[in-house]
Amino acid sequence: MRMLSKACSLVASSLPRCSSSAAPTIRGQPSLLPSVRKEWLDKPLLYGIGTLLVMPLTTLHGVGRMFGAGRFLCNMTSVSSSLQIELVPCLQDNYAYILHDVDTGTVGVVDPSEATPIINALEKRNQNLTYILNTHHHYDHTGGNLELKAKYGAKVIGSAKDRDRIPGIDITLSEGDTWMFAGHQVLVMETPGHTSGHVCYHFPGSGAIFTGDTLFSLSCGKLFEGTPQQMYSSLQKIIALPDETRVYCGHEYTLSNSKFALSIEPGNKDLQEYAANAADLRKRNTPTVPTTIGREKQCNPFLRTSSPEIKNTLSIPDHFDDARVLEVVRRAKDNF
Ligand SMILES: [Zn+2]
Repeated sequence: MRMLSKACSLVASSLPRCSSSAAPTIRGQPSLLPSVRKEWLDKPLLYGIGTLLVMPLTTLHGVGRMFGAGRFLCNMTSVSSSLQIELVPCLQDNYAYILHDVDTGTVGVVDPSEATPIINALEKRNQNLTYILNTHHHYDHTGGNLELKAKYGAKVIGSAKDRDRIPGIDITLSEGDTWMFAGHQVLVMETPGHTSGHVCYHFPGSGAIFTGDTLFSLSCGKLFEGTPQQMYSSLQKIIALPDETRVYCGHEYTLSNSKFALSIEPGNKDLQEYAANAADLRKRNTPTVPTTIGREKQCNPFLRTSSPEIKNTLSIPDHFDDARVLEVVRRAKDNF
């Protein structure tokens, strides 16, 4: 029965919103789990020893049919994917993500800050490692590259702009490139702002994006090598993706981010709700990631540069454009 709950809640949180009134939605009433009223409350059911395993939807379809839940799977064919994503906590508050294509057995990892937790996770499932994908050159995203490459012979992939800064890089990619991970299309988005060579990896077939230190839940990365205008443009590019796209970011910062977000937009009811749930999840040491594009648009102050309340709280003049508003919000957060 516990397996059923896991599988069903996973279906609910993995699918795009459906038009059917019976379908689970972020703000709706999930019919499959009457006692669980919000998508993020499903998360404790999904995690085992600090990892999130996204079961292949093809498998879930079978589970759904088996338990008569087929009517909830309205968009199943359009999002069918055999990609598993496993969240692996690293260092203090980083997340690496192990990607597993169940059809071919191909395995990759996004942003391995350190090698040991990745090796442990791979050994548990007797897996090899073929690819290492880096979003940017910072050590807390690439620290495990060389050890993993030496142990498994994995190819390292990153931005062409970071060809001299990413340890062990083999394959360089640029804006608009499409790279294939075992049959899964991966669209490369250059998102400068945090660093000049930052890229995000979008898996459209799985409705997932890996945003590194560009977009966090309720915040964005610090502007180490870029301008506010660059960060604004990068964020706009990301949030042009469908609302249901799951966002896998580089750090577990949601709780502290929520305190700042609430301090400048206290009247945002979506944010209040999300912050309360994030606090609840963290109390139980459960990840708040992934978030979704739709939720971030409702709650993330760096995506809400037109919010009158934020402008009022920070005394931002009306004539400031979005990038200048973002700059003021960023400065306020840096000093928070
Ligand atoms: Zn970074």
